[in-house]
Amino acid sequence: MNVNQGRTTVKGISAGSSSVAFGSALLVKEKELRIETGKARDIEGEIEKLRRALRQAAETIQQEKQRLEDAGGAAEAYELLEAHEMMLLDEEARHKMEAFIHQNQATASLAADQVFEAYKAMFEAMEDDYLKARAADCADVKKRLLKAMLPEDESKASMLGKAQTGPFVLVAKELLPSALLSTDRGSISGLLTEKGSKTSHIAILARGMGIPAIISARNITEQIEQGDEIILDGGTGSYMIGPSEEEKAHYEKQIKKQQEERLALKKMMGKETVTQSGRKVRLLANIGSLDDISDVKKHDAEGIGLFRTEFLFMDRQQIPGEEEQYKAYKAVADAFLGKEVIIRTLDAGGDKNISYFNIPKEDNPFLGYRAIRLCLEREEMFKIQLRALLRANETGNIKIMLPLICRIEELQTAKKWLEEAAQELKAQGLLPAGAEKTAVGIMIETPAAVMISDQLAKEANFFSIGTNDLVQYTLAADRTNESVADLYDPHHPAIRRMIQMTIENGHKNGIPVGLCGEAGSDARMLRFLVEQQIDEISMSPGSILKSRAIVRALA
Ligand code: PEP
Ligand code: MG
Repeated sequence: MNVNQGRTTVKGISAGSSSVAFGSALLVKEKELRIETGKARDIEGEIEKLRRALRQAAETIQQEKQRLEDAGGAAEAYELLEAHEMMLLDEEARHKMEAFIHQNQATASLAADQVFEAYKAMFEAMEDDYLKARAADCADVKKRLLKAMLPEDESKASMLGKAQTGPFVLVAKELLPSALLSTDRGSISGLLTEKGSKTSHIAILARGMGIPAIISARNITEQIEQGDEIILDGGTGSYMIGPSEEEKAHYEKQIKKQQEERLALKKMMGKETVTQSGRKVRLLANIGSLDDISDVKKHDAEGIGLFRTEFLFMDRQQIPGEEEQYKAYKAVADAFLGKEVIIRTLDAGGDKNISYFNIPKEDNPFLGYRAIRLCLEREEMFKIQLRALLRANETGNIKIMLPLICRIEELQTAKKWLEEAAQELKAQGLLPAGAEKTAVGIMIETPAAVMISDQLAKEANFFSIGTNDLVQYTLAADRTNESVADLYDPHHPAIRRMIQMTIENGHKNGIPVGLCGEAGSDARMLRFLVEQQIDEISMSPGSILKSRAIVRALA
């Protein structure tokens, strides 16, 4: 058995679904794929071998696609397979490999290795996090190709370790999507890997398939043996090897409850979010990247209540240009045509540090140079975002939201710059019809904004209460500091009064009021918000169906 045997709970990074899973470890031991580095004797034979392998690997993908379709599988998985298939059928890649064989008297396997390694290196060097993660696709396609070059009996050998009975937790240093897709989905309950990123395809797949996946589990392949029992908690990102009987019973109960809940929640799909007495409230989703869109759809959100655009600016060396931002905003707007899409302008600073902004070290970053303050000092950068947002608002479903407003002048200046950006675009013939009357709303997340919400409501087209910040600023309790976690209470009477006041002032001035902080999906808070006549609540996609069930049960 292993060092962690005996109920050590270890924390990793949760990248898949937030559910709990139990299963026996299935260590994924990928076959050693052979790369023949010597000089090829039969060049035409190698070219033929390469073409056959390309055909065969593409056929395997066709079969996997069929299997996925038969099982009613996730759209992301299907798209991924299509992307791999396209890479295998790509003429340019084939020409490169054939040229490599001719020029170097190389074998087919070496050509495949070199060409796909070069593609992989190209993606790895990219700044964009999403594109960077595509390097794993190149590695996967290369493996598919090399596998197809093995003699038939060897290539048929299973990639997985010795068969046992499921459910399994796949354990590996790094998992490639093909490992998950070529395994019977019904028998996989979770994934545990040493390497991976939240934007890697394996993570996207796991989320799409509702499987908990913990990445960055250090030395896991050395600690776990084939068949060890593992519990994964996708909610907390922790895992436990060799649980005791009581722990197993505890988690099994939790898993059963989860399954029952999931079934009950599925019934909420397509239903209206309305109380017994007929009061309606819109339930929208908070997102941080385009990858979240499919999750939002799966949970039947009525639109997007908060797109945190700062994530587009992170993990790179410079700000995303107008074109890149335009494409991202338009992709969200298009995905929710006819529905509201609230996009928040850059909220950098505080705990969301972006290195290339070179913000001097601050003693109190949450009280410092962040969000709208930073944008109003960087007119050129802010206008690029405003232009991209306006251009993307073709059908008028995008609403712009400004973070951390404390003063009326901040809203007025931002609106003035937006108007200037619109005029510029108009002169260039780039302002779409939908953008003519783009709504501009604000986050109410500082006590100052609450106290002047009567005045702000005359300038803003909507309010969205950000309890994550409002609670910390009102109760003087840092949202990231564990030591004051018990003081950080969204149900404190001061917060309730602030919410009440904001809704009243918004409604008195005829504008809708929503809430997009984490507290919004808490059952007690939901009840309070509905009583206070809130118009909409935006939350993480996974909380939507549950919240709908709660609202529908209210009097
Ligand atoms: C908030 O403060 O409630 C909010 C939604 O914004 P963020 O969590 O991004 O600061
Ligand atoms: Mg905030």
